[in-house]
Amino acid sequence: MDINSTVELNNGVRMPMLGLGVFRSPAGEITRSAVRTALEYGYRMIDTARIYCNEKSVGRGIQDAGVAREQVFVTTKLWKEDWANPRQGLEQSLERLGLDYVDLYLLHWPFHGYEQAYLALEELQKEGLCKAIGVSNFKEHHLESLKAAGATVVPQVNQVECHPQNSEEELLAYCRKHNIVMEAYSPLGGQGQSLVGDPRVTSLSAYLKVTPAQVLLRWNLQRGVVVIPKSVRPERIKENSQLFNFELSLDEMDAISSINANLRRAFDSDRIDQRPAATFPKIVEEE
Ligand code: NDP
Repeated sequence: MDINSTVELNNGVRMPMLGLGVFRSPAGEITRSAVRTALEYGYRMIDTARIYCNEKSVGRGIQDAGVAREQVFVTTKLWKEDWANPRQGLEQSLERLGLDYVDLYLLHWPFHGYEQAYLALEELQKEGLCKAIGVSNFKEHHLESLKAAGATVVPQVNQVECHPQNSEEELLAYCRKHNIVMEAYSPLGGQGQSLVGDPRVTSLSAYLKVTPAQVLLRWNLQRGVVVIPKSVRPERIKENSQLFNFELSLDEMDAISSINANLRRAFDSDRIDQRPAATFPKIVEEE
């Protein structure tokens, strides 16, 4: 495994194992420069979403870096307000990103009616507006119900909260069995609740002479789970990409896995329709 390692999705598209997340990266120079920095350090994937309100800045950062379009894997996500017209949702995301396709288009959350929204993604994929499609925050029963609703494409990716305190072993086994790649969001534990200070992680990182973040990310990579750590700081963006000059032994993998407490910090996707609208980020257009 190295920084150029990819995983093959069930439709043959190759997806990098490491990407930069940009949730809560402020629109403008901060995100633009984080994206450029990441690409300069060798990242080849950026994970954004309509609701992050920074797609324009992501697009500008990609342009600044001067990396060929086909060498960058760009993910964005369909937000609920665009479910009535997913094509328009994707076309507008593309316009903001300055691209004519995205590599991966995800259904952000399983709000009521998600099955129909997923069928619309299948159509967008057929037209080449997105090379791969997938879902996010889906549990096993959500994935199962897509089949029942007539989906003909098995989601290529399921992006879920995944770190040692919420290892999602069973969901990972299900995804492997059905040829769905699992992608870990909040792989460091999430913003404001990071696991980098956890003594079980820091003791191992000190022993291995790597950083706690590197242990957390490497643990997921060795399980075959794609990681998209977020940082806006160049030194951390670099640190989070230096994952390929060490390896966790089986015992070390088990030690980190034993931290699991099924502790999901994000909203429970089974109750997402009950989440008060005011608690979602407000959509603000970028300049
Ligand atoms: P992460 O687990 O990636 O943690 C990010 C936090 O850790 C930030 O506060 C960052 O601060 C800090 N950090 C980054 N690197 C280091 C380091 N080496 N040492 C110490 N601290 C560090 O959390 P996210 O929730 O942002 O998840 C990653 C990405 O996943 C998101 O950005 C987004 O793209 C995606 N996501 C998707 C969701 C979905 O519903 N599909 C939900 C949530 C996230 P700083 O920036 O200051 O360095």
